[in-house]
Amino acid sequence: MSADSATVLGIDIGGTKMAAALVAADGTILTEDRILTPPGNADQVFDALAELVGRVVGGTTPIAVGIGSAGPLDLTHGLVSPVNITGWRNFPLVDRVRALVGDVPVELGVDGHCFALGESWTGAGRAVDTLLGIVVSTGVGAGIVVDGKPLLGQSGNAAHLGHMVVDLDGEACACGSYGCVETYASGPRMVARAQRRGWRAGERVDAAVLSADAAAGDEIALAVFDDGAQALAAGIVATAVTVDLTTVVIGGGVAKAGPVLFDPVSRWVKRLAQLPFVTELTVEPAQLANAGLLGAARLAWATT
Ligand SMILES: [Zn+2]
Repeated sequence: MSADSATVLGIDIGGTKMAAALVAADGTILTEDRILTPPGNADQVFDALAELVGRVVGGTTPIAVGIGSAGPLDLTHGLVSPVNITGWRNFPLVDRVRALVGDVPVELGVDGHCFALGESWTGAGRAVDTLLGIVVSTGVGAGIVVDGKPLLGQSGNAAHLGHMVVDLDGEACACGSYGCVETYASGPRMVARAQRRGWRAGERVDAAVLSADAAAGDEIALAVFDDGAQALAAGIVATAVTVDLTTVVIGGGVAKAGPVLFDPVSRWVKRLAQLPFVTELTVEPAQLANAGLLGAARLAWATT
C-alpha cells in the first residue's frame, strides 16, 4: 500500500452507540458505520464491535487504530469501564482490538478528548491549535487540545469540566462532590430542575422538549437554560484563564438546542471573562456530526 492510500481505523465507543471508520491522513472518511451498543456480557458487547470493525475494514489493513471511549479508562493498561456499558469493567479493549486488526499501534483516549481533537482537526477549531471542546448531553464531558495535541494530565483524565465546582452551596453530583457544572447543565439535570419549578410536572420528557419549550418562550425553560449556561460559562472561563485559550466548541445532544443555549452561554462568558488574554473568548457550535470518531482517527495518525 502506498503512503497516499494508507488509512487508519477510528473507533468511537459510547453507551448508546458504537461507530467505526477508515480515515485518510487529511481527515477524509472513506467508510463509516455504526451500531447501537448492545446489552450483554463482555464478549457479547465485543463481538458486536468486532463485527462492525470487520464490516468497516473490509479487505484493507489500517496502519494504526485510535479508540475514543466513554470513561473511566485506564490508559496505562488499555482498560475501559464505561459507566453505561455494564458488561465492560476493566475490559482490555486495546489488546482485544489489536488481536482483531493485527499488530499495529492502538491508541486509546477519553471520548471528550477525542471530540475536542476531532473539532480541532477538521471542525470548528481547525483555524487554531489550542481549544476547549465540551460535550453537553446526559453528562458534561470535555477535552482540551494544546498545540494540536490532547492535554492528558497525570492519569489521562484532564478536562473533567463537568465536575468543576461552580456553586459552593450547590446540589449533590453523581461524582460525590456538589455544585458541579453538570448539576446545572446536563440534559437530565436541566429537565429535573425545570420540573421542580412546575414545568410539565409528572410528564416523561427530555432536554429536547425543554429546549423546544424554551425556544417557544416558556419562562421556566428559559430560566433553566440560563442557569445551565451560567454554570457552563463559569467552567469555560475558569478553564480559559487556567490554560490560556480563546476558542471553545460545544457539541452533544443538548447543544442541538441552538441559540437557546449558545446565546446565554456567550452572554455569561462575556460577563465573566475579564482578564485581557480571554476577552476574545468565543463559543461556537460543533461543526462535525462525528467529531469523536475523527478525533480517535487523529490519535491513530499521531502514532504513525
Ligand atoms: Zn461532579
